[in-house]
Amino acid sequence: MTAPNLSDDMTYDSENIFAKILRGEIPCNKVFEDVHALAFHDINPQAAVHVLVIPKGAYVSNEDFTANASDAEVAGFMRAVGQVARELGLAEPGYRILANHGTDSGQEVPHFHVHIFGGQNLGRMIKPLDK
Ligand code: AMP
Repeated sequence: MTAPNLSDDMTYDSENIFAKILRGEIPCNKVFEDVHALAFHDINPQAAVHVLVIPKGAYVSNEDFTANASDAEVAGFMRAVGQVARELGLAEPGYRILANHGTDSGQEVPHFHVHIFGGQNLGRMIKPLDK
C-alpha cells in the first residue's frame, strides 16, 4: 500500500478502511469498544500481540486529533488505550504504543490509530539508523 502524503492533506477521507470498519461495512476482530474508541487486532501483526485502537471521531492522525478533538474525546481515547492493554494482560510484563503521522512515518491508513504491541520482548525502541 502506498502511503498518502498526510502532512500535506489533513482532509478526512470517509472511505478509508477504518471508517468502513467503524460503520460496520468491513469486519474486524474486535477486542474492545466504548463511546470513544474501537480496538481490533491488526490484520498483519508485527508482534505476538498487535492491536489497533481508533477513536470513534473522524480524525486523520495524531496531528488532527490533538489539535481538533475535544478534551473528552482525547481523554476518553487515551483511557481506552490503557484499558485495552490491561484487558489484553499486557500491563505486566509491558507493551509499546505507537502512532504514525505523515510522510516520514509511513502512515498508511488515514484515520488516527494507536498500535499496541506486546506479548514478547520488543527490544529497544526503533531500528537504528544505518551509519
Ligand atoms: P499505519 O502504517 O500506522 O497507518 O498502520 C496501519 C495498520 O493497519 C497496519 O498495521 C495494517 O496491517 C493495518 N490494517 C490495514 N487494514 C486493516 C484491516 N482491515 N483490519 C485490521 N488492520 C488493518
